[in-house]
Amino acid sequence: MQLYNNLSAKERVELIEKAGKERLTISFYKYAKIKNTQIFRNHMFLAWDEFDVLGRIYIAHEGINAQLSVPAENFDTFKTHLDTITFLENVRLNIAIEHDNFAFLKLKVKVRQKIVADGLNDDTFDVTDKGVHVDASKFNELIEDPNTVLVDMRNHYESEIGHFKNAVTPDVDTFRESLDIIEEDLKEHKEEKNLVMYCTGGIRCEKASAYYKHKGFKNVFQLDGGIINYVRQVESNDLENKFIGKNFVFDERRSERISEDVIANCHQCGAPADMHTNCANEACHLLFIQCDSCKAQMENCCSTNCKEIHNLPYEEQKALRKGQGNSNDIFKKGRADHLPYKKDLRNISKSFSK
Ligand SMILES: [Zn+2]
Ligand SMILES: [Zn+2]
Repeated sequence: MQLYNNLSAKERVELIEKAGKERLTISFYKYAKIKNTQIFRNHMFLAWDEFDVLGRIYIAHEGINAQLSVPAENFDTFKTHLDTITFLENVRLNIAIEHDNFAFLKLKVKVRQKIVADGLNDDTFDVTDKGVHVDASKFNELIEDPNTVLVDMRNHYESEIGHFKNAVTPDVDTFRESLDIIEEDLKEHKEEKNLVMYCTGGIRCEKASAYYKHKGFKNVFQLDGGIINYVRQVESNDLENKFIGKNFVFDERRSERISEDVIANCHQCGAPADMHTNCANEACHLLFIQCDSCKAQMENCCSTNCKEIHNLPYEEQKALRKGQGNSNDIFKKGRADHLPYKKDLRNISKSFSK
């Protein structure tokens, strides 16, 4: 019984190309009590491996958080299988706006402490006492209300390329940081303002809304299913789209375009751009925004130093990396002093004084 992925990314690309089948990119999450996470994990891996599912799935005692792709022709089988699991029956599947057969190249099902690294101690507040879930139409209405403060619960590199009009976009590296910043900035308005929040697929708001209610906010709302589900509803119900730019996603696609507006700048030259690059230097992997011309000139690197290292023979690069920290630690930060055009998103106090 094979319980782990054993193909390399390159082999997988070849397989997907050879199969020539359209794949759907899907995400979903569910908070539920899972007793034996390892057994559940193995069960899911075996089933999904059989349906040719690829993706990144986290399982914890508190539930499941999945980002994955599945061949379109296996979708029904995949869905039927989910429905056999009591707490996943009819779970909302957020289907991506833009598909890419190569969004995921491996199936990784991991047991974790939590399904979102939110940095919260769940024993200190009632996680089930959530905010009011609103659909796209109600959300549009609410965010026009002058009494509403709209808050983006994502990190700086996500909101930088796209967000709702008039949203407060905290300049934070982590979810935990933004919770405190928002609370501090809004502390005078806990009772009278509507606190409306959103994130990519809704999962971060599930905890955030409960946390703010615990902190004394009276009118807490969250966008049901996040940006992905909002865009779906806007399309199918012909609603006004109030999201500008791109939606950052956590797979190889990195983002999906929602409106034609390009709201960010190349971090190297300042030209309008909203494509993220992972620095090609294996020892760096910094996530930053790079325009096409800088991309070509810098060979996908974030600095001339990285470009030099990237052009060294592999063995020399490896020798340089020895003893250095894990480059994955850098991925999330997406900041560096040598990138002159990294936008400062600290517009939070400005927005509140309006
Ligand atoms: Zn540039
Ligand atoms: Zn670099």
